[in-house]
Amino acid sequence: MNILVFAEVRDGKLKKSSLETLSEAVRLAGPLGGKVGVALVGEGVKAHAETLGRYGAARVFVAESPRLKHYAPEAVAKAVVAAHQKLGSGAILMAATAMGRDLAGAVGALLGTGAAADCTGVSVEGGKVRAKRPVYSGKVYATVGFKKSPAVVSLRPNVFPAKEVGGAAAVEDLAVAFEDADFRSAVREVAATAQGKVELTEASVIVAGGRGLQAPENFKVRDELASVLGAAVGASRAVVDNGWRPHSEQVGQTGKTVAPNLYIALGISGAIQHLAGMRTSKVIVAINKDPDAPIFKAATYGVVGDAMEIVPALIQNLKKVLAS
Ligand SMILES: Cc1cc2nc3c(=O)[nH]c(=O)nc-3n(C[C@H](O)[C@H](O)[C@H](O)COP(=O)(O)OP(=O)(O)OC[C@H]3O[C@@H](n4cnc5c(N)ncnc54)[C@H](O)[C@@H]3O)c2cc1C
Repeated sequence: MNILVFAEVRDGKLKKSSLETLSEAVRLAGPLGGKVGVALVGEGVKAHAETLGRYGAARVFVAESPRLKHYAPEAVAKAVVAAHQKLGSGAILMAATAMGRDLAGAVGALLGTGAAADCTGVSVEGGKVRAKRPVYSGKVYATVGFKKSPAVVSLRPNVFPAKEVGGAAAVEDLAVAFEDADFRSAVREVAATAQGKVELTEASVIVAGGRGLQAPENFKVRDELASVLGAAVGASRAVVDNGWRPHSEQVGQTGKTVAPNLYIALGISGAIQHLAGMRTSKVIVAINKDPDAPIFKAATYGVVGDAMEIVPALIQNLKKVLAS
């Protein structure tokens, strides 16, 4: 079975989550004797084909257009379908980023097949694709199958390791005839977050703060810990609803889904809706003054105490350790 991967390029950079998805496709296709192809769609994206080859892509299908400077759902979906038709793929994978989640549904609809979103596992058994995905806010995992081929699957970022395997891809231009109708929905404006900040959904370390930090000005403690660790910052909905932090920092069911290597929760109770967004983190550290807070059930390590006392001490010690 051949597998097609959609590679996402943002601000001229290939997304790390796309390389994770590609590595997973390579791992899947190996035993099946299949080839992995990549759809590379956008404006001036061709140069990334070399990296994709190093991560195991055998073929890279490039569709470029100046009209694809920003994501245009219908046009990109059309290009992905064209790449699929060239490769003859049994599965189409992409990272479950904001763009990937949108695109998976569009590609599935164009091909009249099914799409499984935000999966944490994918396998091929007896020629059939199976995807594992968290449901009910991550309380249970569902294994889903597909009635039709190709299976369209988006994979949660930070769950699958990206692995360079060496190699070079054959680069092929996709002659996609884009029409005005392919640009009915268009991105008009991109409001970028402050430069230099680590993007929450791609971060390998996140420090998040909740209502237990007690006042908006106390979030500087969270920010300082994050800067010592080179981490991104997150927040619970309670503090976003209070107007203490922007919604872009919210983690959870109605915020962002994250799966970093390390998630540090400061003064967050661990409500089910918060856990929905972070429980697949590899290591969870919780600091909470209530020993019965539900976050401790999900935590790998827990510290019972006042975050406003513990975190400054932790920062001091971390600075010493990191300096030595
Ligand atoms: C439909 C729906 C969607 C939702 N979506 C989300 C979502 O996406 N994300 C989300 O986070 N929530 C979401 N919620 C809200 C969720 O149910 C909780 O209300 C919210 O997560 C609570 O935030 P919190 O833990 O910061 O606050 P609280 O529940 O008030 O908890 C504060 C915690 O801090 C501890 N604490 C207090 N003082 C200190 C201190 N000095 N040091 C250390 N610990 C201290 C307390 O013991 C407590 O455990 C949603 C709710 C609904 C109904």
